[in-house]
This record gives sequence, structure tokens and C-alpha cells, in this order.
Amino acid sequence: MTNDTRNQKLEKPQSVTPYTPNEDEEYMNETQREHFRQILTDWKQALMEEVDRTMTHMQDEAANFPDPTDRATQESEFSLELRTRDRERKLIRKIDEAISRVDRDEYGFCDTCGTEIGIRRLEARPTATLCVDCKSLDEIRERQLGQ
Ligand SMILES: [Zn+2]
Repeated sequence: MTNDTRNQKLEKPQSVTPYTPNEDEEYMNETQREHFRQILTDWKQALMEEVDRTMTHMQDEAANFPDPTDRATQESEFSLELRTRDRERKLIRKIDEAISRVDRDEYGFCDTCGTEIGIRRLEARPTATLCVDCKSLDEIRERQLGQ
């Protein structure tokens, strides 16, 4: 597997069973919070296993390249691996933050306007802290500021 496919694979949780709330169910009640806590925990677990695998892989490889030419190739491979791992770590941190929002009963509401982010959106992006509208505004602003 290449780094790219692996990244894409772990950028989202693997298999989410969509939650179907009852009609009169309160948004982010205990059951829903538990649903998202589970998604976040499983996802974090998968990522941490991946970080471990990368580390073990790098240690194995390091022992196998005594030749300096091979070593150069290997070093660029390593820096790619390290970047990947760095991304995974950042993602894990975001997941941790999301889990603590669940704990504080703040999960699922937009950071900017306080509106409900929505179950479907959160299932697709469990670390989302903005509703669709605020996220779009944010991206427009970013495009205008950046590049
Ligand atoms: Zn919002």
C-alpha cells in the first residue's frame, strides 16, 4: 500500500453505521453521544495502530540498508513516512479534542454560531467543529487571505 492510499483511508473513520434518531429524540442525547464516542474511539485506535506500524517498519528498514546509495533513497522514504506520521498524530489530537467535547457535552454544535452540526455531517467528519455554513465562509475567507 502506498502512503497516499493509506492516508486517504485513515482520514475518515473506516466503517460507520449511520445512526437513525427517533422523531422526538433530542439532538446529542446520551445515545447519540455514545454513538459518536464509539466512532471517535475506533478511529483513533486504527490511527494509533498505523503509527505503530510505521515506526516498526522504519526500524526494520533502517537495519537493512548498509549501502550509502540505498540509504539516500531510504532517507527520502523516511521523511515521507515521518510527514505521514506527523499528520496522523495531528489527527489523533483532533480526535482527542472531539472526544473531550463529547465528555463535556459540547460535541456536535458549531463553534462559531452554536447551531447543530448534524448527525450525517458528523458521521462523515467526526472532528468537525463548524456547521456547513460557517465552514464554507471559513474556506472562502481562507482562500481570500491565503495564496
Ligand atoms: Zn455555524
